[in-house]
Amino acid sequence: MFDPSYTEEQAALVEGARKFAAEHIIPVAGEYDEKGEHPDKVFRAAWELGLMNVEVPDAYGGLGLSTLEGCLIAEEIAYGCAGMATSMVCNHLSMLPLMIAGTDAQKDKYLNWLTSEFVFASYCCSEPEAGSDVAGMRSRLTKDGDGWVLNGQKRWITNGAYASFYTGFATIDPELRHKGITAFVLPRDTPGITVGKKENKLGQRASNTVDVTFEDVRLTKDNILGEPGRGFAVAMETFDKSRPMIAAQCTASSVARWTSRLSTPTSARRLAFPSHSTRLSSS
Ligand SMILES: Cc1cc2nc3c(=O)[nH]c(=O)nc-3n(C[C@H](O)[C@H](O)[C@H](O)COP(=O)(O)OP(=O)(O)OC[C@H]3O[C@@H](n4cnc5c(N)ncnc54)[C@H](O)[C@@H]3O)c2cc1C
Repeated sequence: MFDPSYTEEQAALVEGARKFAAEHIIPVAGEYDEKGEHPDKVFRAAWELGLMNVEVPDAYGGLGLSTLEGCLIAEEIAYGCAGMATSMVCNHLSMLPLMIAGTDAQKDKYLNWLTSEFVFASYCCSEPEAGSDVAGMRSRLTKDGDGWVLNGQKRWITNGAYASFYTGFATIDPELRHKGITAFVLPRDTPGITVGKKENKLGQRASNTVDVTFEDVRLTKDNILGEPGRGFAVAMETFDKSRPMIAAQCTASSVARWTSRLSTPTSARRLAFPSHSTRLSSS
């Protein structure tokens, strides 16, 4: 049976993340959200404390935490600021295709990069016309000698303007739908990559969300993750292992919304659902 109590280590992780949110995030969250700015100083402090890249295996310098432990941390951070949490967990999302389909050499290069330097990585799956429908993506990989040429536009890419490398997906033939999807990894300085429009979002404004365009980007076999045409399964497994963190962030945001409402003078004067609010505030 599932045991909902924390181990000593998990309780310490929650405590540490909660303290970080109270000291480093909550005091500046409103300001960064209003300005729509990427809080580099906060992220650097989180990276130095080991609150980013927590699921990178210890062989690559990470803490090797489980999905549950990653969720416990994400929940505490998101209580402070949903946008900062989205940006902080994005390295996890981006490293999953490497963990799932990367060779030892690819993991060695990119996972060690995340843990040895304060850097961001982005995950390039969504496109203007393809969100939930991953198999409908149009970004195209065309064979060219021993390598490939990538062309396409990605949208809603978290940390896209700050990433040092991108993992992502393109198709070798759109007609093949899910059987054409191919996973890749590319350093940011590869010629042909441009960061475009930044989304002016309603929420999560401290998280950078941009377009990333690939124009005649040349890839070698070192940039392909797994077998060409087998990337759809990599994308789905990535979502299986990353969406729990998004759920944890949503739970935290709901709790934060209620507690801030209950602690303001407005809530004392104006209670839309008195019995419900009283129960929550006294619990
Ligand atoms: C803040 C933010 C950050 C993001 N960061 C990234 C990122 O880093 N990388 C990245 O690749 N993407 C990112 N995204 C994009 C995100 O993954 C997509 O928004 C998501 O996949 C949904 O796609 P969509 O918005 O096109 O919605 P749609 O796919 O158009 O879906 C709209 C609605 O229709 C429903 N729906 C869709 N298809 C079906 C169906 N067949 N049957 C029934 N219902 C259906 C969906 O559940 C949803 O409720 C981000 C988005 C946001 C808002």
